[in-house]
This record gives sequence, structure tokens and C-alpha cells, in this order.
Amino acid sequence: MEESPSGPQGTLGRETIAAVGRHAASDPWKWVRAQLRREYGRAQYERWLAPLRLVAIEDGLAELAVPTEFIREWIERNYLDRIRALMAASPAAVEEIRLKVAGEQASAEHVSPRPGHRNGKGANGARGSAPDADGQVGRIEAKPAGTDSFGGRLEPRYRFESFIVGKSNAFAHAAARRVAESEEVPFNPLFLHGGVGLGKTHLMHAIAWEFMRNFPDKKVMYISAEKFMYQFIAAVRYRDTMSFKQQFRSVDLLMLDDVQFIANKDSTQEEFFHTFNALIESQKQLVISADRSPTDLEGIQERIVSRLGWGLVADIHPTDYELRYGILQAKAEAVPDVVIPNEVLDFLARKITSNVRELEGALNRVVAFAQLVGRAVTLDLVREVLSDLLRANDRKITIDEIQRVVADYYNLRISELLSPRRSRNIARPRQVAMYLAKQLTARSLPEIGRKFSGRDHTTVIHAVRKIEDLRKADSTLDEDIHRLMRQLQS
Ligand code: ADP
Ligand code: MG
Repeated sequence: MEESPSGPQGTLGRETIAAVGRHAASDPWKWVRAQLRREYGRAQYERWLAPLRLVAIEDGLAELAVPTEFIREWIERNYLDRIRALMAASPAAVEEIRLKVAGEQASAEHVSPRPGHRNGKGANGARGSAPDADGQVGRIEAKPAGTDSFGGRLEPRYRFESFIVGKSNAFAHAAARRVAESEEVPFNPLFLHGGVGLGKTHLMHAIAWEFMRNFPDKKVMYISAEKFMYQFIAAVRYRDTMSFKQQFRSVDLLMLDDVQFIANKDSTQEEFFHTFNALIESQKQLVISADRSPTDLEGIQERIVSRLGWGLVADIHPTDYELRYGILQAKAEAVPDVVIPNEVLDFLARKITSNVRELEGALNRVVAFAQLVGRAVTLDLVREVLSDLLRANDRKITIDEIQRVVADYYNLRISELLSPRRSRNIARPRQVAMYLAKQLTARSLPEIGRKFSGRDHTTVIHAVRKIEDLRKADSTLDEDIHRLMRQLQS
């Protein structure tokens, strides 16, 4: 606990007794509170004592409600004697005080595990569920989405088993597995980043499932940064930040998804920063995701950014054709009553390059349509059903656009990029642009060559291979390409 209470103990001073007579008669509880505030100072008062509510005074017994078990214990240990003395001195002439955790709801927010059953409420807020429900796994699965609990629901489909590994996500996948299988924290935090729909959330849920399977006694929490923020705001509003903090600090593995969401949200960042430090210090694993790398996060405080990069930063690159095909194949196998020809899978994998979510959506639409109208899945049917999507994906990235963005990025004119000049500072960006054209469009090598002032397709092949190799060796170039891809795909 960062702060121990200080303040007067035991007897009432003369000054206090004088004050009782003057102000307390109308509302003794109000007077007691004002007294506490004055004696302990604003910070302690706000944190611990402000949440107290007077429920009733009867026969010399005052019943006070507190929002959480944690606060109850803390008040009992540190402030109760003083409260009792003040209440006794007030016109209400209270002799004894009972602290109770307010209502069913609040008591479900017990922070410390009670003996006999594990406290699973933190991660899933299964309020009012049977006390002997067995821990996190079952509860998370059982919980409906969208309740007002801490933490979020885990998607049963998002497992390692259903995650297709390809070049673009192999590193992130390996890092995720490592976290899920390690009892000791292997690196902290694991920072996963990549564009939208590329599998960050899928991987995080997979970590959670696998970690819970491997270490059933450990506590896991998954939450989006957005939800973290709303929970935090609510906690502040209801003066319950202690149990908010406690919820997060009692987990063994915390996953915070889409951290870019708290950019420019200063007090949420502050809270996150403290949670982050507390967990890292106590050797708890953190997994964080964002749509960009820590250094590209804007509107996030510098000290947070630097800490986000302390552990392992793993990026998920845009998909390549092989991965897209692999994912489609896996999904197609999961619908055994519909035959999907390979040429359809190939067509989709070539055409829908934006992200996996769209790819999945496209396949689902095709299957649903074929089933509905009782037609076989053919290329024609696919073109018909997905015409809007295909147009959007076609429109999405053109070679012209790539040339413009790359030229801009390297401070060149497009005419320079397309010129015959071979100096490194122009030739390299040109190769990057060709590489991106190959990766991000469905154009063939000769088509790409033509767009670069009629170069031969072998020049394009050479450029693509060159950049592929360089990316492995040159992290600056690799980072440049990520930025360019992100810019083009946004
Ligand atoms: P992100 O969080 O990065 O925006 P998601 O994790 O929500 O992306 O992924 C979007 C969809 O694509 C999900 O349905 C997910 O299961 C699927 N998906 C993404 N990557 C893969 C993969 N490598 N293998 C299988 N499914 C994937
Ligand atoms: Mg996500």
C-alpha cells in the first residue's frame, strides 16, 4: 500500500468537542465527515473515506456502507476507531459501528480471494454466479458479452489451433506462444502491433486460453484499452478507484488490447502507467496490442512509449498471398457441406488483400449466398456476390498511389522515382515502390514493370528479392516499409 494513514488517534481534542455543539446537531454524519476530512487531509479522505455512506443509526448502532470489501478492511484497520470516536461525540451518540459492503453487487467485487473458492469476478464480472463456480476459465466462457464488468469476454474461436501461421505473423505467433507457455515471465511487456484485422486480438485471446489451460490457478484478464478507460472513468465517478486498481493488480497476466485508444486521454494514461509499472514490478506478465509500433504512437506520453518498448515488440505484417490462401483453406474446410474450388480460394487470396477480417467476411458471404440460392461456388458467383468488395479492394491501392506515397516518403519527385537514374538514394526507393506494388496490389510483374517507365519484369523480380533480403538485415528499412504499408493501407 503506497500510503499509510496518519492523523489523530483516539481521544477528541477540546476544539473538536466545542465544534460538536455548534454544527453537528443538524446532521451528525455530515459533521463527522467534515471532521475526518479536516483531520486526515483531502487525499486520504477522498481515497478512503469519501465512499462511506451512512445507512442507518439505530439504538446506538450506526451502519455504514462501503463499496468494496477491500475498502471495508482498510477502513476497519486504519480509520474505524477514529470514526467511532467522532460518532460517539456527535449528537447521534453512536456506540458501535458496523461496516458493510453495500449490496449484492458491491460484495461481488471482493478483491482478495476468499478461502474456499477462488475469486473469479475480476476478469469476467460473473456477478451473482454460484460461489463455487470453478475459477476463471469456466466463468469467462460462461459470461455473456457486454456486461459492465471488469475485463472482457474471450472468444472461444480465437485459439492457437485456429491461428494460421505465415511469414507475416510467425514472429508474433512465436512470441505469443512463449508467453502462454511460460510460468516465468519471458519478456515484459509483449507488445503486439499490426494493422487492423491482422490477428492481434485473436492472438491475445489465444494466449489467454492457453495460459489458463497451462496454469489454471493463475488469474488472467483481457480488456480493451477502450473498456479500461470507461471502467476507470466509472471508478473515478463512483469514487472506487481503489478496487479498480486492485482488480488489475491482482492478475498474473493482463492483456490490454488496442492501446492506441488511450492516446490523448491523459488521466487514463496515467492510471495505465501505474498499473503497468505495478505489474511489471511484481513480475506479472503484460501483453499489449496497438495498431502501430510504440514509437509511432502519437498522443501517448514519452515515458509510457519508452516503457512499452522495454520487453519484446513483435509486429504482424500485412498478409501475403500464401497466408491468405492458407487461412481461406482452413476456413473452407470448416464448412464441409459446401465445396469451394481451389480457383475460388486463389481468386479471393489474390483479390482481397486488405486484411484477414475482410477475407473471412468475403468467404462467409460467398458460402452463405451459395447455400441460400442452392448454387455451386464458382468464380462467377464470387464475382457477383462480392462485386462491391472487389471493387473496394481494387480501388484500395494502386501503383500510382504507391509511387506517390513512396516518393513523398523519401522526399523525391515521382519523375525522379520513375527516371532511369541509378544512384542509391533514388534506386532504393524505386525498389521499395516495386516491392510494395507486388505486395499490395494484384498486378503481375510485367504490369508493374510497365508502370515503372516500362521496365522489364526481371527488374521487378530483382527489386522484390532485393528488398525482401534487405528487410531481414536492415531494421531501418524494414521499419520504413511498415510505415509505408500502413500509410497505404489506411
Ligand atoms: P486485429 O485485432 O488485429 O484487428 P483480429 O484478431 O480481430 O484482428 O482478426 C480479425 C479476424 O481475422 C478474426 O476473425 C481472426 O480470427 C482472423 N484472423 C486473423 N489472423 C488470422 C490467422 N493468422 N489465422 C486465422 N484467422 C486469423
Ligand atoms: Mg483487435
